[in-house]
Amino acid sequence: MRIDLHTHSTASDGTQSPTELVAEARAARIGMIALTDHDTTAGWEEAVGAAVQHGVRLVRGIEISCSRDHRSIHLLGYLPNPDDPRLVIELARARDSRVTRMDRMIERMAADGIPVSVEEVRAQVAPGATLGRPHLADALVANGVVTDRDEAFRDLLHDRSRYYVGHYAPDPTAAIRLVRGAGGVPVLAHPFAMRGATVSDELVAELAAAGLAGIEAHHRDHEPADVERAVRLAQRHDLVVTGSSDYHGAGKLNRLGERTTEPREWSRIVEQSSGVKVVEP
Ligand code: AMP
Ligand code: ZN
Ligand code: FE
Ligand code: FE
Repeated sequence: MRIDLHTHSTASDGTQSPTELVAEARAARIGMIALTDHDTTAGWEEAVGAAVQHGVRLVRGIEISCSRDHRSIHLLGYLPNPDDPRLVIELARARDSRVTRMDRMIERMAADGIPVSVEEVRAQVAPGATLGRPHLADALVANGVVTDRDEAFRDLLHDRSRYYVGHYAPDPTAAIRLVRGAGGVPVLAHPFAMRGATVSDELVAELAAAGLAGIEAHHRDHEPADVERAVRLAQRHDLVVTGSSDYHGAGKLNRLGERTTEPREWSRIVEQSSGVKVVEP
């Protein structure tokens, strides 16, 4: 069975609804997918219905945007209890902060004569979805400023851009404890992806000591040397090794199932979980 443990839907910055995503997994003969929208579980309910309908095993997950020394670090959390009070509060805080952050990015662009408004960005976001820079990118595409999300990030929206504004994001050790506290299993997402500075060996050691369960080694944004390094660190700290597509629909080049996780590695994750169960159709 092919297992893809990292995908996004319109509940955050993916371009397909949870239903479309699950249907596509079925068509691509992927037996199990995890829905891991940024800072939200809003897509879970729809995804569960689609998983049952299409006969795809569904792992309910999240991807928490974390921050350490002004660097962005992403943490995947698998099978957490979505009603855990601390998790609910922390995710809501992050999403709220993403709204004010977006206003400030739009203000900075408007001050520079780039035509984009809050309303135009809002028009790109599904109701209740986590707001992100890709939605701003979509508004810029709609206004003819750029041709696609990639160009928007390259020219205007990257982390070192003059228009970039950060948002509230917990420290990764706090996020690991949060996921564990909700019965979920924390896995470090694409630690050596080259957007922003990458994660150090020392930080991986610290996160492992804080309760990290795994590391996403196989990912499009990792060079072969990065994959080797991630696997080596996993061996050193007894971490699970995962591989995933980080699929965002039409918003990125990543194709569903382009990287996968070995069933043996997945079983090491699921046995550590006590939040919600895998949806088995
Ligand atoms: P944000 O969480 O709002 O800061 O936006 C970051 C998100 O933008 C990342 O999680 C990616 O999903 C997405 N992203 C980053 N670079 C690109 C790119 N070049 N093209 C499309 N999406 C991107
Ligand atoms: Zn994303
Ligand atoms: Fe990510
Ligand atoms: Fe992602």
